[in-house]
Amino acid sequence: MNGHHKVVVASLAFALLCGLASLSGCAKEAAARPPQQPDSSVTTAPPGQLPVVQTPTEFAEDDPFERFWGMPDLGAQEPGFPWLPGEDRTLSRSIGSVSYGYLVNAHQIRFPHPSLAMLERQSHRALNFTSDPMFEAVEFASKHVQQTYPGAVTYLGNFSAQGGGDIPYSVSHNSGRDADVAFFVTSTVEGTPYVMHDLLPLDDEGRYMPSEEQQLQENIFAQKDRVPLSFDVARNWRFIEGLMLWGGLDGKIQYVFVSNPLKKMLLDYARAEGASSDEVIDAADRILWQPRSALPHNDHFHIRLHCSDVDYASGCDGRVYSTKEGRSASALHEMSVMQASKILTDGDSVDGGAVVAAMRRLALLNIRRYDSKIASYLEDERPLVRASAARALADLDRGSKELGERLAREEHPRVLAELVVGLGRLGGKRSYSALSAQLSEPVMVELGERELDARVLIVDQLSMAEDKRVVQPLIRLLEQLVTENQTPTARRLELAMRTARALRWLTNQDPVQRLVVERNLGAFAEGDPEQQLALTSKAWMLWWDGNKKKRREQWLVEGFEFAGYKVVRLDRKRVWPLCRVIASEQKYLSYNAQRSLMKMFNHHPLSLEWSKEDASFYWRRWLERRMRRFRLPRIPVELSTLKKN
Ligand SMILES: [Zn+2]
Repeated sequence: MNGHHKVVVASLAFALLCGLASLSGCAKEAAARPPQQPDSSVTTAPPGQLPVVQTPTEFAEDDPFERFWGMPDLGAQEPGFPWLPGEDRTLSRSIGSVSYGYLVNAHQIRFPHPSLAMLERQSHRALNFTSDPMFEAVEFASKHVQQTYPGAVTYLGNFSAQGGGDIPYSVSHNSGRDADVAFFVTSTVEGTPYVMHDLLPLDDEGRYMPSEEQQLQENIFAQKDRVPLSFDVARNWRFIEGLMLWGGLDGKIQYVFVSNPLKKMLLDYARAEGASSDEVIDAADRILWQPRSALPHNDHFHIRLHCSDVDYASGCDGRVYSTKEGRSASALHEMSVMQASKILTDGDSVDGGAVVAAMRRLALLNIRRYDSKIASYLEDERPLVRASAARALADLDRGSKELGERLAREEHPRVLAELVVGLGRLGGKRSYSALSAQLSEPVMVELGERELDARVLIVDQLSMAEDKRVVQPLIRLLEQLVTENQTPTARRLELAMRTARALRWLTNQDPVQRLVVERNLGAFAEGDPEQQLALTSKAWMLWWDGNKKKRREQWLVEGFEFAGYKVVRLDRKRVWPLCRVIASEQKYLSYNAQRSLMKMFNHHPLSLEWSKEDASFYWRRWLERRMRRFRLPRIPVELSTLKKN
């Protein structure tokens, strides 16, 4: 699977996630979200995993196919789940990875609770949802603390949102397998248990001192904690001991992040006290862990669970443990695969909904050996079944040949859209030539009352191909639109506008603008649309003649240079000029600068969905913090994001 093709999924997928009615809301939310602080988890998608949908906001505005079937993607909150007949619909299910997954049937932690409460600050976030095993683990450990300390309450930080998905405070916590739990602390002076209002960092001796700086910060919650505090090692150890007794000994807990000094305090205490078994202490020693590349976790326990067998049978991405004695961890998973494949084999005799669920389930489980069976459903008479087959194949990174062949014959608009998006996601020569082949004449489809030319969708899809091969077909399309008489003028101009936009994104250049400047055609923008179209086509043809032999990287570099940025090569020495480009007025320049950085560092944040100010800040800080590791040149002072004092 080619990583970067997967990153760039279509505008359509974005429309799917948000729905057009809420598109602006969705974009607003993305823009308002601050650059994420890496919490504890990887920020780069693991190989072979679908990274989060990235959509240039320029496209997120006017998608004609908006009322398309909503078949949910990873990264979405509360998407529907492909249930197989007879499955238990009451259990929680963690789907995908902790950074890009989601949570089905979340367990809501309800308050008041005899041994659990939420920190005041986190109580306003509605992140009190989690998986069944995580709730079990934390509740068990909190009750275990109460056996020694009656009335002790365990305070909780962020868990997950109701349907899982991304949360603004952390890159993980998506699938209910992560939980932040506050430390037990005492007031240093009085020695009595103290309830904090927010997670507060402890130093290497386990102490918190309220500082001037702390009070100046606009954290109204931390401002309430103006007393010196100490790590309550006895209660904290009871909590960890409880976790180990719940599942630390049989491999249910992946780790508990905590800083090394605090870990040492806990283990020293446990050994000296002599009340815990060696088995429990050894398990805690293995599972307590200071993460190497994320925050040191000196302000909370971060619990991460492995996948339960129910999760694993639902598409959980990780190691698996069995929830039932004597059942192998993967038994349920194998059963689900068998059940889904049997539904596909029984085919026409079963209800379309079951076939759709079976294909989606196999895709979630990343099982590829039934791909030709799935491909045969591209010919099914039920449109939803065909659309689902296209989606499942693209999810499995399979079927560009079959999708391409079906595209030439498909007439149902929604299925057509799935095929186009699927081919765009699959990428590669075969997919792009199947898509390009459809540009030579109008592809009219009916969507409700409206008639649409599906080439609009194809052009949008090709605009994110980052592939030189699609450029010439698009330039040919422009040329053809100048004289395409059977297409009404408005539709022709709309398509031409989108084609020119796609070419800017693909080539990082705007020869039309150059021509306007060179020939002093100041009134171009107000001129006759037909003349504009002719000039646009001509500018791109001339550009192609002069540039077709160059590699795409060279186009990118020349585009940056022409706009006045000193990016002479796409390498690590040019990261600071690239960061400047991110803030450019021209969206295609900003997009290509961010994509170049993503590829250079194999790091894929959601920066394309943020405002360019947020994106620029994020990248400058991310790189500034890694200047030494990546051997980058010094950051120019005016780009620096770190406070100097
Ligand atoms: Zn955490």
